Amino acid sequence: MPEIWLPSAERVQGAQNAGAFTGDPWRGLLHTTEGSRLSGALNTFRGSHNWPHFIVDPIQKRFVQCLALDVAGRALRDGNRNNCIQIELVGQASGTPDWSQGTLYFLALIMRQIEALVPIPRVSTLDFIAYPQPRPRRNVRLSNAEWRVYTGWCGHQHAPSRNTHGDPGAINIAFLLDPINHILPQDILEGHLSALAIDATRLHLFTIRSGRLNHDAWSAPNIDVAELDIQAINGTTRLFPWAQPQAIRQTLNGALHTWVVSVGRPETDNVAGRPWQLIAFRQEEKSWKLDTQLPILTPSVDPEIGCAAVSRAPEMIEICFAGPADQNGDVTLYNTTLTGQQSWTQRAQIAAPDSSFAPLRSHGMVTVSHTPGQVDLFVVNRRDSGLYQLSSSRAGQWQGPVRVGGSQLAASSHGQLATVSRELNTIDVFVVGKASTDADWRLYNVWWRSQDGWGSEAAPHTQFIGGAAVPPQPMAGVGAISRGPDVVDVFIVGRNDRRLYTAGWERQRNFWTQFHQIGGDRIEVLSIDAVVSRTPESIDVIVTDLHTNVSITTITTTSGAATPFVALPSIQVNDVRHPVRRLRERLQQQRPQLRQQTEAASDVTPQSSELIRGLQLLMKRIASDYPSPETATDVDAINADLDQYTV
Ligand SMILES: [Zn+2]
Repeated sequence: MPEIWLPSAERVQGAQNAGAFTGDPWRGLLHTTEGSRLSGALNTFRGSHNWPHFIVDPIQKRFVQCLALDVAGRALRDGNRNNCIQIELVGQASGTPDWSQGTLYFLALIMRQIEALVPIPRVSTLDFIAYPQPRPRRNVRLSNAEWRVYTGWCGHQHAPSRNTHGDPGAINIAFLLDPINHILPQDILEGHLSALAIDATRLHLFTIRSGRLNHDAWSAPNIDVAELDIQAINGTTRLFPWAQPQAIRQTLNGALHTWVVSVGRPETDNVAGRPWQLIAFRQEEKSWKLDTQLPILTPSVDPEIGCAAVSRAPEMIEICFAGPADQNGDVTLYNTTLTGQQSWTQRAQIAAPDSSFAPLRSHGMVTVSHTPGQVDLFVVNRRDSGLYQLSSSRAGQWQGPVRVGGSQLAASSHGQLATVSRELNTIDVFVVGKASTDADWRLYNVWWRSQDGWGSEAAPHTQFIGGAAVPPQPMAGVGAISRGPDVVDVFIVGRNDRRLYTAGWERQRNFWTQFHQIGGDRIEVLSIDAVVSRTPESIDVIVTDLHTNVSITTITTTSGAATPFVALPSIQVNDVRHPVRRLRERLQQQRPQLRQQTEAASDVTPQSSELIRGLQLLMKRIASDYPSPETATDVDAINADLDQYTV
């Protein structure tokens, strides 16, 4: 067995297991803890010793591995040792049918990581039925003989008799097995974001919420102003929430434009099972336009690996992407190029899968241009877990794949690469990986220089960063930025504490510092979304936390000091509805005092009327900018409150 602990799971070693597996076909089994907290579940297992392999809280977005995957868990009454990997889900069996698609997607990604380590087929031939059971009762339990040969995903309710539990209830197993064909972006509040630095004080943030792209301008130090004009063009598209949007600034025909490229589909085709396409938005002056040609040229792309957009040269944008997966789950890599006044080129093949190479879809791709006209694309190869380069010095012509970083370096099964070119003719790539001598996962730097390339097999240009004191959480992604030819800064999330860490390289000293924590302890980081530099002396790191809220920390590079995380309120998951609800609650709480004050004040000051009129205008604006039944209900309620205080 190559690795028996998930690279991304926190580790709490269970004190007891049920011994060796019997060698039957592999299966994954879902339980619910019937509690509400992961810490409570851990305490229960410490007392009962009925350890599962994993405890996952898909709502709070935490997961812990308690047992290695080559020993049996103890959470079943019978059948533990039949090659059964057991996951305890924090929650109630009665509640699982109501779990959101965002919650289920988090669990699905963990199931994929387990499938990458033990050969559990991504299927279930069983019905997951509600628990507690309505009448007439159904029995979905397998017999002992059926249990021994079952392979795929199941629940405690399917485990053979002597087991009596009905967990995990009617969980949406179809979604868990194939999220890409079941996702409806409008049902998913959270999603990725990307950022662009416009000048020394302004950042532009592009956030996917409910499948819509939102555009916010953020000004230092802490004022954010929503720019809502992108809403207008969104009307026809829904984006895949977990494909990282790519924001780039590009000169075309002499004018500077902002582009946001991602994966999505038109509203008219936004139905489960329909294909995903490349979607691009372009800002000209103040207004946003949807590129209508690109989705036609790329009628089916793989949303899981996403896309990578790069400014190839002045007047030239390149997008790399993958076509849909074949029956083996393998994808072909393609590109398309936009030049000056011309339209996007027909997709051209970069590399097709074969017996030695196929891009790992669960590990996103990255592109970089180290010299105008040149593009390099990096992916992880699912055949050997190696890091691979594909390169193009002329549009439409590609070379590779070539393994880089040496044959000893294996990338984690899920994650996101990062790359920078700090000056002409240099490339640095960052990947969470493991060499054969590593006990735990590390952040590796692999580099290319024009004079000696990627090094030799005997001495590949590969080194790990920061020692092993902070194992990285590969699912959180990796951030990397170069503020100039002499400096590179990298960012990871600690696997065991979910804090943000940074390490740096400078030409002068030519080594990587140790990782140190920044941003403070106020939040636990789910993902590193964007790293940008507004000035040579500052770096902004924008992260999503475990509650899927977005925060920023700013580093002053001269001192190395970083601000504590500051929330960016206008792009929180629940967007406008949260603040509106809070405002309504506050008004309701204060209603008695307000009424008293209104009644007591026989002469209400003009300022108060002004304030109320201002609030009414704000409500009107919210209602028109965020047209939805929920917003309308909230706004009506607040207006009714305000009406009472109008004189
Ligand atoms: Zn159970």
